[in-house]
Amino acid sequence: MFVEKITPYYRNLIDHDGPDGPLARMVRHSELERRVRPEERTDPIGDGRWQRGANGRLIHHYPGRALLLVTDRCAAHCRFCFRRDRLSRFSSDLTPEELAAACAYLAAHGEIHEVILSGGDPLSLADETLTAVIGAVRKAGARSVRLHTRYPVYDPVRCESFGPVAAQLDTIVVHVNHRLEITAEFLRAAAALRRARFLLNQSVLLKGVNDSEEELAGLSLALGEAGILPYYLHYPDLAPGISHFRIPLEAAIGLSRALSGRLPGYLIPRLILDIPGGKGKIPLAGQEGRKGDDGAYLFTAPLTGETVTYREAL
Ligand code: SF4
Repeated sequence: MFVEKITPYYRNLIDHDGPDGPLARMVRHSELERRVRPEERTDPIGDGRWQRGANGRLIHHYPGRALLLVTDRCAAHCRFCFRRDRLSRFSSDLTPEELAAACAYLAAHGEIHEVILSGGDPLSLADETLTAVIGAVRKAGARSVRLHTRYPVYDPVRCESFGPVAAQLDTIVVHVNHRLEITAEFLRAAAALRRARFLLNQSVLLKGVNDSEEELAGLSLALGEAGILPYYLHYPDLAPGISHFRIPLEAAIGLSRALSGRLPGYLIPRLILDIPGGKGKIPLAGQEGRKGDDGAYLFTAPLTGETVTYREAL
């Protein structure tokens, strides 16, 4: 059971936005989550296929980069989370033994240029712990370290002490889905995170939250004013019980195309689909109409070149 978890700060934002607003929709449990589509699965992007030791915390999918799940805890629970199954079952942090095992793997795979600290949300860990993890993976050969976090949105005060750790990172990717999440507190958090070399954002395209040209353009402009570049716009993965967050792929591609008429190129996020089964991410621009006779999409997996069938789960 993926329990409802909301920070007092975000609860306050919801109180202003209203119980049926986009912010509430992202974190309040809904009865619609009981509706699981046949296409949905507990491991929607196929992490299991690429887990390499450290009790499944090290995921090596793409040749040049690896993901290290440093914790299974988050400040709050996003109802659309693609790792909701893992976060439901675990709530632990990376142990020293797991870190040592991950570093041994990194040291033996010199082709891994970048290590991405993810989870859960890495900022659930103390600054000292994160500093130790960053030092260890660099010592094991990582030339670039990236961190993904939604703390600036859920608990921005946590980020205010983070500047010295951010300065040790090459890239920080925050996760903002709606312009109402960009508050004065968020901007103070972003100022601390900006000590990393790059500060980017990734969003998830969510029905009833940001699935309009108006909202997506407004979000990108607000991010731009905050000095954060929109990077990815993820089409929701096939996690179980989240079909009420998906819009048709064709509509998603249309929205993405419409943004190019409204925004400068550097503020347009790339619409991305993670092909189920661990087959990789593909940009969706230009993929419309690639349907077979049975209505399923046919995509080309980026790493293997194989043709993959993708069925929408709406
Ligand atoms: S912050 Fe990230 S990992 Fe945590 S629940 Fe939200 S989407 Fe999932």
